[in-house]
Amino acid sequence: MPNIAINEPVPFEYHAPTNIKEALALASQYKENFAYLAGGCDLLDMMKRQWNTSAHVIDLKSIDGLRGVTTNSNSVTVGALTKLMEVQQSKVSDGLRAFRNAASRVASPQIRNMGTVGGNLLQDSRCPYFRGPFLCYRHGGIVCDAHHGINREHAIFGGDRCFTVTPSDLAPVVVALDGIIHVHDIDGERTIPAHQLFLSPGQNIMSMHSLKNGSILTHVEFSVRPGQRSHFIKETVRNAWDFARASVAISLELREGRAHNVRIVLGAVAAIPWRDEPAERVVEGSKVDAATVEKAVSASVKGAEALQYNGYKIGLTRKLVRQALTEIMA
Ligand SMILES: Cc1cc2nc3c(=O)[nH]c(=O)nc-3n(C[C@H](O)[C@H](O)[C@H](O)COP(=O)(O)OP(=O)(O)OC[C@H]3O[C@@H](n4cnc5c(N)ncnc54)[C@H](O)[C@@H]3O)c2cc1C
Ligand code: SF4
Repeated sequence: MPNIAINEPVPFEYHAPTNIKEALALASQYKENFAYLAGGCDLLDMMKRQWNTSAHVIDLKSIDGLRGVTTNSNSVTVGALTKLMEVQQSKVSDGLRAFRNAASRVASPQIRNMGTVGGNLLQDSRCPYFRGPFLCYRHGGIVCDAHHGINREHAIFGGDRCFTVTPSDLAPVVVALDGIIHVHDIDGERTIPAHQLFLSPGQNIMSMHSLKNGSILTHVEFSVRPGQRSHFIKETVRNAWDFARASVAISLELREGRAHNVRIVLGAVAAIPWRDEPAERVVEGSKVDAATVEKAVSASVKGAEALQYNGYKIGLTRKLVRQALTEIMA
């Protein structure tokens, strides 16, 4: 178990492949004993604390074709190595505004200039016990220190031994926008719907995502649909930069004044981006006026189960649902 005073990684060998084939060959050579490096904002912290003791670091940044935002007539593709700042400054269509909003709300400009889209989606739990010297379930232990500890940031949905939440601001947005995740591994290329990228503790208590060891997330694809609108908002303790206490991503298509394909996805309330289906059902097919918004708010966040210190998230999330639905129609 790491000592909290540790602040340096175990010795490792650094590799900088220039194409995916080379990266996958290195991954298959070093099997369980390597880590892919993108911006390093998450990985280096885990290595310095020696929770990650990989002997090989495979840097993905020199690989061509994994970076940039490409707009086609009916889709937008974002490379996994695209910096969050590049997304913030990109000219994605209005329908995908939530993606740009979310990137611009991540941490500070320094971190947005380092952190990447893929790394943001695949980052590990930010539970303070997990990041500290505690051998909890998520590290293979037999206890959740947060459950009987300070659990202000923790889950109100989907807790199952572990009550961590997704720390990624992009995660609820890629689910709300029905993003397609492109992955390259030793067996070739494949795609998965964004909601299948994220794992609840019941599915796998030691990994927050479903990528197999050695898989490389290459890009995220969104379709651009007529009448599409999207929005993202988050609430933090500090305004300057902070992880979300709760967030809401919404996507819908307006046709003849009515909302269709409505997605209302909550962030930082569960280990996975949490679709608020009861609220979605209220808005689906309706005119999004003040009465619909209030009905959706009443239906939202149903079934939440608070721990000792995180009951505030229920009211906070409902407030964000109201704000997001109101602002998306403005
Ligand atoms: C102080 C601080 C504050 C932060 N605040 C926020 C916040 O408010 N909101 C928020 O959303 N995030 C926040 N973050 C997270 C940050 O935005 C980074 O996006 C995130 O830490 C990881 O991105 P990265 O590119 O640095 O990934 P890395 O640290 O390089 O990698 C993260 C993980 O993903 C794996 N990985 C990375 N890219 C790929 C790929 N293409 N294929 C396969 N595996 C890959 C790595 O092996 C590693 O396990 C914060 C981070 C810090 C340090
Ligand atoms: S919430 Fe999860 S990550 Fe945090 S202490 Fe409990 S088991 Fe560990």
